Amino acid sequence: MPISKTDFVRGLQCEKMLWLDAHAPELKIIPAEVQARLDAGNEFGDKAMSVFGDFVETTVFKEDGRLNYAAMLEKTKELLERGENVICEAAFSWYGNYCAADILKKDGDGYALYEVKNAPAARKEFIVDLGFQRLILRKCGVKITTCSLLLNADKQDEREGQVCDEIIEHGGSRFKIAEVTRAARIEERVAEKRIFELGKLKRKDAPLPLISVGGQCESPYRCWYYEHCHKKSE
Ligand code: SF4
Repeated sequence: MPISKTDFVRGLQCEKMLWLDAHAPELKIIPAEVQARLDAGNEFGDKAMSVFGDFVETTVFKEDGRLNYAAMLEKTKELLERGENVICEAAFSWYGNYCAADILKKDGDGYALYEVKNAPAARKEFIVDLGFQRLILRKCGVKITTCSLLLNADKQDEREGQVCDEIIEHGGSRFKIAEVTRAARIEERVAEKRIFELGKLKRKDAPLPLISVGGQCESPYRCWYYEHCHKKSE
């Protein structure tokens, strides 16, 4: 079964999490503060789209309000063919495995890839995310020149020595760019090794992975099945 970027990141944290997403999503509990953080992230992502000036967004909705992936893939293809300068939410699919890139910015004969995160500093899980995107985009024939995180410079960065290449003031917010191309290349190789194996967890007949609760239940993110799994193991 094909997987999305979200599936991949969640499956890497815990295979059982991905299995539950596919087979028993009704068991998940998303705490209100997590939902608020996700909403704030979406808002920050919307602001970031115009950081590099005029842009074209590929998002297309169906009449019922759901995303129209086929139309988004088609629109992305057209924009790339005409060499559009800045493309937001560019959609790609490789053997059905899917991702949407937050921002692609024309860079010579290729594109610089940006992942927007409403966070003050680069984190490993963000680079995992970029590695998956880099894999799908390159398999779709896009030349990726650099991979960067577009972070929130208005948030307090408690860690020393974080890479930061540039601060951009835009629309009343401050964004910072952290280029992580090398690390994203390494994560791309991990993604290539694991993508099809993780996809198998979504098959109808896939057995529930026998995974005990542990550190992965809270890192890098608290799992939405935490109550379900911990109740069962008591
Ligand atoms: S609570 Fe822990 S074991 Fe259960 S699905 Fe989540 S990460 Fe996996």
